[in-house]
Amino acid sequence: MATATINLTPRDFKGKVDPDWCPGCGDFGVLNALQRAVAELGLRPHEVMTISGIGCSSNLPGYFNSYGMHTLHGRSLAVATGFKQANHEMTVIVTGGDGDGYGIGGNHFTHTARRNTDLTYVVMNNQIYGLTTGQVSPTSSLGMSTKSTPFGNVEQPINPITSAIMNGATFVARAYSGDVRHLSDLIQQGIQHKGFSIIDVFSPCVTFNLTNTHNFFKDRIKKLEDENHDTRDWVGACEKAVLFGDTIYIGVFFEGDRSSLEDAEPVLKTGGSLASRKLGLDPDQVQRVMDRIT
Ligand code: SF4
Ligand code: MG
Repeated sequence: MATATINLTPRDFKGKVDPDWCPGCGDFGVLNALQRAVAELGLRPHEVMTISGIGCSSNLPGYFNSYGMHTLHGRSLAVATGFKQANHEMTVIVTGGDGDGYGIGGNHFTHTARRNTDLTYVVMNNQIYGLTTGQVSPTSSLGMSTKSTPFGNVEQPINPITSAIMNGATFVARAYSGDVRHLSDLIQQGIQHKGFSIIDVFSPCVTFNLTNTHNFFKDRIKKLEDENHDTRDWVGACEKAVLFGDTIYIGVFFEGDRSSLEDAEPVLKTGGSLASRKLGLDPDQVQRVMDRIT
């Protein structure tokens, strides 16, 4: 008997807990865009896993109605990689901030891109450590005064877009959380892409970063799709990604079609998800295993 399809709305992906973010925090726009994206793709809460690290933005899985894991600082991509290999039928969305993802988790960021694991990584990049009340982060601009750099930041910021492209990610985009429709479209493209998709989102911290504000981005951002940008041209993508002056581009910078980790690994590719395979053990053997581990 055919099962009736019920169209879900973004509201169906609202979690049981309301966000405790500061009023005006850019992360609200990201949460809205994500709820909209999964609803429009026709996904169900039980088909989605959200995984985060630590930080204001990493509280997102608690505000989102799906399976969720709030893991260790900087370790969300490692946990998500393991989860995806065990059950690659699930849509796995990783959420977090710039400090969590590019600082503490920088190593995992590099290797997840290299492996091209089929994850969608949404980074709420506010160019500051917000949860710990305003220290310099890996994406803070040169010269920026913060609690930990009162005389100005002397460290060159990481560029997440060029880093992701150079390390092998196959869907690399940037967005602004104040443009929810555009961000939601990019998240949908990222989810539909097979391989590692990263969407770096300018998501202003209205409390501790008074430089990179909503108005700062509104005055500068331009969309790559309005410039006839070729998303297969990685050199052109990098040239546009490093601009951070009067013009800052958002949109899809680069798309490639390399095999994802799940497709490249023969054991994972054949036989379906590990999570749904038979163990090949009889009940006595299972009991003995359980006795050993409990
Ligand atoms: Fe958002 Fe900043 Fe407030 Fe954290 S401290 S909730 S990042 S505005
Ligand atoms: Mg941050």
